[in-house]
Amino acid sequence: MQIKAPRGTYDILPDDAVKWQFAEKTIRRTAERFGYREVRTPVFEHTELFERGVGVTTDIVSKEMYTFKDRSQRSLTLRPEGTAPCVRAFIEHSLYGGVLPVKWYYLGPMFRYDRPQTGRYRQFQQFGVEVFGSDNPFLDAEVILLLINILSELGLTDYEVHLNSVGCPQCRDAYRHKLIEHIRPVREKLCDDCRVRFEQNPLRVLDCKNETCHLAITGYPVLMDHLCSECREHYEIVQAALRENRVTYIHDDNLVRGLDYYTNTAFEVHIPGIGAQSAVGGGGRYNGLVQECGGPDLPGIGFALGMERLLTALDSREGENTLSRGIPVFVAVMGAELEGTGLKLLQELRQAGIECDKDYNQRSPRAQLKYADKLGARLVVLLGEEEAQKGILSIRDMQSGEQISITATEAVSFIQKKLAESGEENAG
Ligand SMILES: [Zn+2]
Ligand SMILES: [Zn+2]
Repeated sequence: MQIKAPRGTYDILPDDAVKWQFAEKTIRRTAERFGYREVRTPVFEHTELFERGVGVTTDIVSKEMYTFKDRSQRSLTLRPEGTAPCVRAFIEHSLYGGVLPVKWYYLGPMFRYDRPQTGRYRQFQQFGVEVFGSDNPFLDAEVILLLINILSELGLTDYEVHLNSVGCPQCRDAYRHKLIEHIRPVREKLCDDCRVRFEQNPLRVLDCKNETCHLAITGYPVLMDHLCSECREHYEIVQAALRENRVTYIHDDNLVRGLDYYTNTAFEVHIPGIGAQSAVGGGGRYNGLVQECGGPDLPGIGFALGMERLLTALDSREGENTLSRGIPVFVAVMGAELEGTGLKLLQELRQAGIECDKDYNQRSPRAQLKYADKLGARLVVLLGEEEAQKGILSIRDMQSGEQISITATEAVSFIQKKLAESGEENAG
């Protein structure tokens, strides 16, 4: 039987990998411009980290984790998200005692046992940032500006920013009572999940994707009307800073994050053009999380971006296909006895930083030229018996058809010059 990739996973073949490389490079460069530095944490962690750091009542922890026992019977979990591992690393290395804030980004695979559907995978890639050690509302604005700058660097301009404040534990407490009073009479109309949520954490009922639940609770009190003066001021500064930087946003009362460690700013970014799963990223403040995970009482903020959805958005842009690229130089070897000379020339070119290749399947000279064309070669170095004896090489420009002979010793510098003229990137 043929073995296929597991359900909910996919391969990125080289033609697509070019797009991934472009997106990843652009994102890293933008994050670094904002003063963020990369952190890499393990792909699996102790299960308890996510139970504490994500919350046992969340769908992620209660239904979607890849949890297993290792050979020593420890419970481990493939990371379903990137924030809890960052918090763990921040505490474990005692970075709270150093220079603050700490500004981190990460990029890598996450794992959730979700029902696979368009745009959702069981192994998926996330880019995210976390900042620890500042409660400044201008930082909230900077984090949102980073997300937006990433999108515009990628050429994605048709995004929508949704913004809300979820307050602090104090103002949320008063609000929660109002919400419970509102929902209690209609509790029976809610879906099974929401009835459990209502008992555990009524704010999460607002998060339900189920239309009937939304109808049942219609007219519910909004958190915005219950913010304390500090939380209100924080939100006002964030909004003013965004306006100052000409970011248009939509205030969204439905944008609540039900867990207690989330505080103040919450946001999501949508790209409406990519279909029902239009949210490409989101995040917010989590001033209670570091302490929840066993660290000191230090504020934090972050966001995560789904790379697959970003790539979908990139694909949906019109007439954009400048990313496919070939190998710039091909060495055509005219005869089996010159293979060794050909490989030696490749080695010289590669050491000089030039991307190049040759045939390894005994193609005829004519077939090698066709092959070079398929690979997208701009220059073909023709290495024949006669040339080898005289110590010269012929170089053909595949675009103009022009062909010139040069001595073997000047080949590398000649090719470098030719490629530079045609704008080929050249590390040499
Ligand atoms: Zn408050
Ligand atoms: Zn529901």
